[in-house]
Amino acid sequence: MVTRNQLKDRYTRLNERIAAAAERSGRRAADVMTIAVTKLASPSQIRQIVELGHQDLGESRVQQLQQRAATLEEFLSRHRMLTSGRQSTMPDQVRWHMIGHLQRNKVKPTLPLVKLIHSVDSLRLAEEIQTHAARADRDVEVLLQVNASGESQKFGLAPAAVPYLAEQIMTMLHVKVRGLMTMGPLSDDPESARPTFERTAELFNEMRNSGDFGRDFNILSMGMSEDFEIAIECGANLLRIGKALFGEPVGASQ
Ligand SMILES: *Cc1c(COP(=O)(O)O)cnc(C)c1O
Repeated sequence: MVTRNQLKDRYTRLNERIAAAAERSGRRAADVMTIAVTKLASPSQIRQIVELGHQDLGESRVQQLQQRAATLEEFLSRHRMLTSGRQSTMPDQVRWHMIGHLQRNKVKPTLPLVKLIHSVDSLRLAEEIQTHAARADRDVEVLLQVNASGESQKFGLAPAAVPYLAEQIMTMLHVKVRGLMTMGPLSDDPESARPTFERTAELFNEMRNSGDFGRDFNILSMGMSEDFEIAIECGANLLRIGKALFGEPVGASQ
């Protein structure tokens, strides 16, 4: 288990590496945001990362998302009560991201919990989100998941299908497309993710520069613990990091 001090060190080290990669590619560190993916984290580690000031958290399964969001919200509401009016490094609220595959029958419980859904990859899923968002009278922000590596076992749209789905979603009043998300191919070699990231970034830039999807089409979610530096070099502005924060300490047995 990663201790509190180790988590703090890992968080510092991660932020340094992100800043260095951003600088190498001529960008500002502040333009690259990170989601702490909590699927490997214990409840106390989730509290600790929030205590360090981190606000964006991600889960890939709806059930875990529900449990963790509820547990953390109890902690945060206690904290808000105890510190009301006083200065604290800890945020009053967090933003949860749904980063994993979302089944249509899980849309309803997911919507009240999340800031952004990263994994929209079909018209039917988008329509389901529109239906529940309209009922709740709110807007839901989404990313379209791109399968740019062509691996058949992976979720996501073929790149050519992405602008087409985005256009269809533009007609839905309560669903807002904020950008694209992708994952590198399964591999031991982080460099093997580069072509996937480059291809997705190219598509993202084409769509953004077309102006067809509005000024808020500006999020490119790619890069995980093993390949985030490459993702930043390719233009990512939202990273999804789990293992590098919460995984087993290097050298520990599995
Ligand atoms: C688990 C997960 C991550 C984080 O991966 P790490 O290798 O632990 O950094 C990112 N994105 C998605 C979709 C995930 O499921």
